[in-house]
Amino acid sequence: MRRQMEQAARAGADAVELRLDYLAIAPSEGEIEFLIKDAPVETIATCRPANAGGKFTGGENHRLELLRIAGRQGAAFADVESGTPVSDWPACPIIESFHDFGGRPDNLDEIAGRMSGSAAAVSKIAFSAAEPRDALAALDLLRSGKKSTLALAMGEHGQISRILARKFGAFGTFASLESGLESAPGQPTIGQMKELYRWDSIGPATAVFGVIGYPIAHSMSPAIHNAAFAHAGVDAVYLPIRVEPGGENFRRFLDAVSERPWLGWRGLSVTIPHKENALAWVGAANCDELSARIGAINTITFGPAGPRGDNTDYTAAIAALCSAMGIGPEGLAGRNVAVLGAGGAARAVVAALTHYKTDVVVCNRTLERAEALAEEFGCRSSPLSPPARIEARIIINCTSVGMHPNVNACPLAEISPATRVVFDTIYNPIETALLKLARKAGCTCVSGLDMFVNQAVAQFEIWTGRKAPREIMRQKVLEKLAAADK
Ligand code: NAP
Repeated sequence: MRRQMEQAARAGADAVELRLDYLAIAPSEGEIEFLIKDAPVETIATCRPANAGGKFTGGENHRLELLRIAGRQGAAFADVESGTPVSDWPACPIIESFHDFGGRPDNLDEIAGRMSGSAAAVSKIAFSAAEPRDALAALDLLRSGKKSTLALAMGEHGQISRILARKFGAFGTFASLESGLESAPGQPTIGQMKELYRWDSIGPATAVFGVIGYPIAHSMSPAIHNAAFAHAGVDAVYLPIRVEPGGENFRRFLDAVSERPWLGWRGLSVTIPHKENALAWVGAANCDELSARIGAINTITFGPAGPRGDNTDYTAAIAALCSAMGIGPEGLAGRNVAVLGAGGAARAVVAALTHYKTDVVVCNRTLERAEALAEEFGCRSSPLSPPARIEARIIINCTSVGMHPNVNACPLAEISPATRVVFDTIYNPIETALLKLARKAGCTCVSGLDMFVNQAVAQFEIWTGRKAPREIMRQKVLEKLAAADK
C-alpha cells in the first residue's frame, strides 16, 4: 500500500484514499502510522464495512477505532458512512459518505439536504448509474451542494460525472492507479484522468463534447478529439457516453442534456447504432439537405439557436477520394463508381456520389438491399457474389469484409484492368486485403483512415470554427490502432 501511495504521488495524485478495509489483516496502530506519517501525499482513511460495499468484516468498534487512529496519525480526512455517530470524533475532518449500489435513489435531494446539515466537512454521495442521465443527476448535486461535495455516479454510465466533477467544483474525484485496481466501478485510471481528459485544466468554463454509441469503450474518438483540443489550446473536454440501442434511450439522454444549459455541452459525435436516432432528435429541418436525405447524422452541435445536425461521414469520404484523385468534388460528375455494400456507410457514400452526379452502381451480397438503395438515389444495382470481379473505374468498399480480425477476407477476387482507383472505407487494418490487391494492380489506393480522420477534422472545425490539427489527430489514430494490435 505504501508503494502504491508513492506510485500515486508520482502519477500526480493530490491525495490517496487508504482503503484500510482492503488490507488482508486489519492494521495495527504502528502499521497505520507507517502508512500515514511522512506519506508522499495527503491521505483519506476509509474502512468500509462489507454491508456498505467494502471488505471490512470485523466489529464496528474496531472499524471506527482504526479510523480514529488514522486521524490521530495525520490523515487529512476520514471517510465515515452517513448515519455513523461521529460527534466525539477526535482527530481529523470527516467525509460523510452515502453509497447506493442498487441505483439512483429517488430521494437524492432529501439525502443531500440532510447531509449538508451535518458536522462533516464534506458530503460524498455515490450511486450506481443505470443510464448516462444518472451521471447528470450527480452533477445536479454538485451544482446545488451547500458544502464541499463529492457526487459520483458509479459504473460505465456514470463515468462522465467523475470527469466533469472538477468543472462543477467538486471536492475531488477518484481515479485508480491502473486498470483493474478500481475501488468502485467506472473509475478511470489516473493516467486517463490526467493525460486523456486533462483533469488539471478542466474549469468552470470548459466546454463539453462527447461521443454517443453502443458499445463505446473502444472508441478512438475521445483520444483523437482530446488530443486535438489540447494541441490547439481549446478549453474543452471530450467524453465517451454509452447509450443503449433505441431511439427512446437516445432521446432521454439528449433531453436531459438540453434541460441543463449550465453543463456547457457544445457538441456530440454520434456513432453506431444512433446515427438515425440523432437525425430524428435534431429534426431534418435542422440538418443539411444531404444529411436529411441520408437519414443519419454523426455530428450534433449545440448553438444559441438550438441543436444542429451534420453528417461529416459523407463529406469525409468524398474529400478522401477527391484528394487522392487530385480533383474537386465536381470532377466526380459522370465518373463510373461501384459502391460495394448497402449498409449505413454505403448509403452515405451513394447519397454524396449521386449528389455530385457520379455514375454509381451499388453492388451488395443481398441484392434487394442494393436495389432499394439504388432506386432511392437513382442509380444502378448489381449482386456481389464471390468470386467477384467488378468492371468499374472507381471501386469503393463499404462492406465490412476485410475488417479486423478477418484481415485476409476480400470482397473481390481480382481487380479489373479497367479499375484505376480503389477506396476501402475500412480503417482497421489500414491496408486491407482489397487495398493490397489494388496496389499490386497499380491502382490509386485510398484508405478508410483518411475518411476517419477527415470526419473528425470536420467535426473539430464545425465545433470550434478553427483549423483542426490534422496531423496530431492522424497520429493519435495510428497510435490507437497500433496499441489495439498488441
Ligand atoms: P452495415 O450497415 O452493417 O453494412 C454492412 C455491409 O457489409 C452490408 O452491405 C453487408 O451486406 C455487407 N457485408 C457484411 N458481411 C459481408 C460478407 N461476408 N460478404 C459480403 N458482404 C458483407 O455497416 P456500415 O455501418 O455500413 O459499415 C460498413 C463498413 O464501413 C465498416 O466495416 C466500417 O469499417 C466502414 N466505415 C468506415 C468509416 C470511416 O470513417 N472510415 C465510417 C463508417 C463506416 P448485406 O446487406 O448482404 O448484409
